[in-house]
Amino acid sequence: MIVRFWGVRGSLPSPSGFSELKDKIVQAVRLALKEQPAPEDAERFVETLPDRITGFVGGNTPCLEISCQERILIFDAGSGIRKLGEHLTPRPELDIEEELRGKAKAPSRGAGAGASGRKPHSPKRQLDLLFTHTHWDHIQGFPFFTPVYDKDTSITIHAANSRAVEDGLRAQQSTPLLFPIHFDELPADIKFRTLPEDGLKLGPFNVDFMRLPHPGGSTAYRVKAFGRTVVFATDYELLGDSPEVNRAREDLRSFVQGSDVFISDTQYTYLESHSKEGWGHSNALNVVEMAHAAGVKRLYLFHHDPSNNDRKLYDMLEKASNYSELLFPGSGLSIYLATEGTSVEFPETPGAPPSHRPHDEKAKRRREP
Ligand SMILES: [Zn+2]
Ligand SMILES: [Zn+2]
Repeated sequence: MIVRFWGVRGSLPSPSGFSELKDKIVQAVRLALKEQPAPEDAERFVETLPDRITGFVGGNTPCLEISCQERILIFDAGSGIRKLGEHLTPRPELDIEEELRGKAKAPSRGAGAGASGRKPHSPKRQLDLLFTHTHWDHIQGFPFFTPVYDKDTSITIHAANSRAVEDGLRAQQSTPLLFPIHFDELPADIKFRTLPEDGLKLGPFNVDFMRLPHPGGSTAYRVKAFGRTVVFATDYELLGDSPEVNRAREDLRSFVQGSDVFISDTQYTYLESHSKEGWGHSNALNVVEMAHAAGVKRLYLFHHDPSNNDRKLYDMLEKASNYSELLFPGSGLSIYLATEGTSVEFPETPGAPPSHRPHDEKAKRRREP
């Protein structure tokens, strides 16, 4: 089972600008001045730099992929889903030689293949898209998800309130005011399903859900396969100790209990969450407490505030890790920032720990000679 982060930012896409890059260059230069590597060791030195300097946390809004045995579950369609679409439906490379040969003896290459590039008569590709809720940051990437333009793709959209999701997706593709292509013109076979209260089985996955306190409501998902459990809970607020909040907190703790990976909304610092009470988001320190109470193994901080640069996000991670170590020394909880382009891979061996894979681009760079 692999969990991939395609979009980790909350509220609004927030591309990194020059000031972010400059901050990383300054940090790298400071380290270089301290270590003074020889000029010929410059590349090796760069490769030893931490991810906080050589990578970006990412500016795309929520999209998560959990896949196993070719079955793909997609959670939310924030702007991150665009890159997932390109990953699933890569544009065919133009082979000039084959193209010239094709011109000599028509029909040309690719005739009859669908937008996916698959052979004709191959079975439709099945994708399952599960929505937490309809706030814009969780649906805005849908019209840019290339598989919706592939007639050979079947997409089942699941949600606790599937009517609301259908209304939201249709509204953002109302033509011509908001988008040039109407929802009904999409070639893919798209169906909407309301989540059954007792959960559902999708290929190798067992999926449960619970409702979360958030303006308009949100949904947490728990995905189990081959003895592993991943919980995705974004856009929720559990502040104070009213009976309702205590009950919701206990419900979530029980839902998360014993999970291998807990991906949670941690948009705010502890102080911010109190000054933004009612905005519907969590702070990292309370989520660390929740993760410990539930015996979680790996916690991923998610739904980063669009106004936080990478430096602030890594500071939040450090504070959350220190708080965890102070309150529960030696507990074994590992805490990470959910970072666009990274993944968590569970090995086939039962009981073996999952591995955190770095930025795909960085890994690729390291493989290059
Ligand atoms: Zn959100
Ligand atoms: Zn929301």
